[in-house]
Amino acid sequence: MSATKPAALPRTGEPDEVRHGANFSAVRLGGACDWGRYAVRHPGLGATLHGKVFLKSLLNLTGTEISCGVIPGKGGPPFLHKHRENEEVYVFVSGTGQMLVDGEAIDVAEGCVVRVAPAGVRAWRNTADEPLVYLVIQAKEGSLTQWTATDGVGVEGVPAWPAA
Ligand code: ZN
Repeated sequence: MSATKPAALPRTGEPDEVRHGANFSAVRLGGACDWGRYAVRHPGLGATLHGKVFLKSLLNLTGTEISCGVIPGKGGPPFLHKHRENEEVYVFVSGTGQMLVDGEAIDVAEGCVVRVAPAGVRAWRNTADEPLVYLVIQAKEGSLTQWTATDGVGVEGVPAWPAA
């Protein structure tokens, strides 16, 4: 574990495993159906988010905040929020729901990805009985100056997988 963990939002629910190497960090959260065991008290929102786990402190993220969330059935967080500097990308993994951005409803389902600018006043909800599983990736708007096409570089060799 790193000795200099960034400040973490108060979390309940512990992952099954957190592992750090010289150049990686990995977390085993458990299946999405079990993410209901996580909750976070969010001082900026004055609310407790149930079924939500933030990864920044677990993985020592330095460029993004990522959270994994599940809403088990109809409903959703009963508040609106926006951001000061960060854009958010909501990636819906399974289920059916809606996002509300500045009063405009957007139907979402498995495979939908919604980017919300910092100033967008947003909410989201599950409109079905099945769990709505989603990820939220948050990064400073305008901070991405290099990406796959210009940042990724090939390295000599082939993967040396351990024997099964
Ligand atoms: Zn947010």
